Amino acid sequence: MDFGFDARTEELRARLLAFMDAHVYPAEATDAAQRAALDSPWRTTAVIEELKAEARGQGLWNLFLPDSAYGAGLTNLQYAPLAEITGRSPHLAPLATNCAAPDTGNMEVLHQFGTEEQKKRWLEPLLAGEIRSAFAMTEPDVASSDATNIETRVERDGDAYVVTGRKWYISGAMNPDCAVFIVMGKTDPDGPDIRRQQSMILVPRDTPGVEVRRAMSVYGFGDHAHGGHAEVVFDRARVPAGNLVGEEGGGFAIAQARLGPGRIHHCMRLIGMAERAIDLMCERALSRTAFGKPLAAQGVVGEWIADARVTVEQLRLLVLKTAWLMDTVGNRGAHTEIQAIKIATPRAVVEILDRAVQLHGAGGVSQDYPLAELWAAARTLRLADGPDEVHQRSLARRELKRFA
Ligand SMILES: Cc1cc2nc3c(=O)[nH]c(=O)nc-3n(C[C@H](O)[C@H](O)[C@H](O)COP(=O)(O)OP(=O)(O)OC[C@H]3O[C@@H](n4cnc5c(N)ncnc54)[C@H](O)[C@@H]3O)c2cc1C
Repeated sequence: MDFGFDARTEELRARLLAFMDAHVYPAEATDAAQRAALDSPWRTTAVIEELKAEARGQGLWNLFLPDSAYGAGLTNLQYAPLAEITGRSPHLAPLATNCAAPDTGNMEVLHQFGTEEQKKRWLEPLLAGEIRSAFAMTEPDVASSDATNIETRVERDGDAYVVTGRKWYISGAMNPDCAVFIVMGKTDPDGPDIRRQQSMILVPRDTPGVEVRRAMSVYGFGDHAHGGHAEVVFDRARVPAGNLVGEEGGGFAIAQARLGPGRIHHCMRLIGMAERAIDLMCERALSRTAFGKPLAAQGVVGEWIADARVTVEQLRLLVLKTAWLMDTVGNRGAHTEIQAIKIATPRAVVEILDRAVQLHGAGGVSQDYPLAELWAAARTLRLADGPDEVHQRSLARRELKRFA
C-alpha cells in the first residue's frame, strides 16, 4: 500500500499552497471590508474576482471535474488533498478556484445529464466562473431528508413545464450572479414507483414567477461569500420543455448521482478546516499565558491538540480510501465509505472547532477569528446533503443485511 501522493498531485499541492499563502489568506480581511460596503452582502466582491483571475491564470481552476475536456481531469484521489487545502479558507478558496458548492454539483449534473444546448447555455458560463447556480430540493413544509416527500409540482403544459412550490436553504441563491436553479419536483405525483415521480428542471432566475423571498441565516451568520441560503418561491414559473434535465421521472436518480462527489468534497474541505483550527490552537496556546504558564503548558490543552491531530489523521485516511474506492469501483461500490465519512467527518470536525473556540476564550466566538463561522459551517454539514441519522440508518441496513 502506497500512502504517498503521485507527482501531479504533489505539484498541484505545492502550487495551491503557495496560492493560498500569497493570495487567499491576505484576501480574507479585504473580502470582509469590501463586503461591508456592498449594496448586497451576498454579491461577489472585487477581491474574489481578482482571486478567480489569478487562480485561473495559474491553472488552479475547475480542479473538481474529472473529465479533462471540461475540467482539470483529476481523479478523486488526486483532487482530495487539493480540496482539503481550499477548506482552510472555505469561504474564499473554493470560489477562487471555481470549486465551490453548489456550483460543482450542478456542473456535474449538467456535464453528466445535460443536453448539448443546456451545456452551452449553462455549463460553459459556470465552468468559466461567469455565473453561479443553485440546487433547489429542500422544502420548509415537508421532511426533505426523505426526498419522496417533495411537494413541488412540475406540470407539463404543451411545450412547457410549469413549476410551483416553495423551497428553502437554497445555497448560493442570494448572490445576484446566481442565474439558474436546478429544481427538483414531481412530474408524476401519483405514479406507482415512488422513485420515478420526480424530475429535475432548469429554471432561470429571471423566469416570471420566481421569487427569491428572503435570506436564511446559519446560526445567525449570513454565509455571505458563499452566496447565502435563500427561501425561493416558484409560482407557476413556466419554462420550455427542453429545460428538463435527463428524462421525466429521473430526478431521484440524478439527485443520488449528484450527492456522491458532493459529500466527499465537503469532507475533504472539513479536514482543511480542522487543520486550520489546529494551527490556530497551537499559535494561541503558545502565545498566551494564564496562571503563570503558557496555555500550551496546561495539560488539558495538550490533550486537545493531540486528540485533534489523531482525529484528523484518522479522518483523512478514511476520506482518501473513499476517494480511491470511488475511482476504482465507482460511487456505488463506495457507498458505505461515502456514508461513513459523511457521518464521521462533520461530527469530529465540529468537536475540534469547539475546542479551538474554547482555547480562544471570548475571541473564539468573535468576528476577529474565523473559528465561530467555521464551527457554524461545519455544524450545518451534519444536516446538509443528508442528516447523520439518515446515513446511519442506511449504512446500518446494509450491515444488517449481511446477516438477515
Ligand atoms: C446551510 C445549509 C445549506 C443547505 N443547502 C441546501 C441546498 O443548496 N439545496 C437544498 O435543496 N437543500 C439545502 N439544505 C437543506 C438540507 O439538505 C436539509 O436540511 C436536509 O436534507 C434535511 O432536511 P430537513 O431540513 O427537511 O429535515 P427533516 O427531513 O425534517 O429531518 C429533521 C431531522 O429528523 C431526523 N431524521 C430524519 N430522518 C431520520 C431517520 N430516518 N432516522 C432518524 N432520524 C431521522 C434527523 O435528525 C434530521 O436532522 C441546506 C441546509 C443547510 C443547513
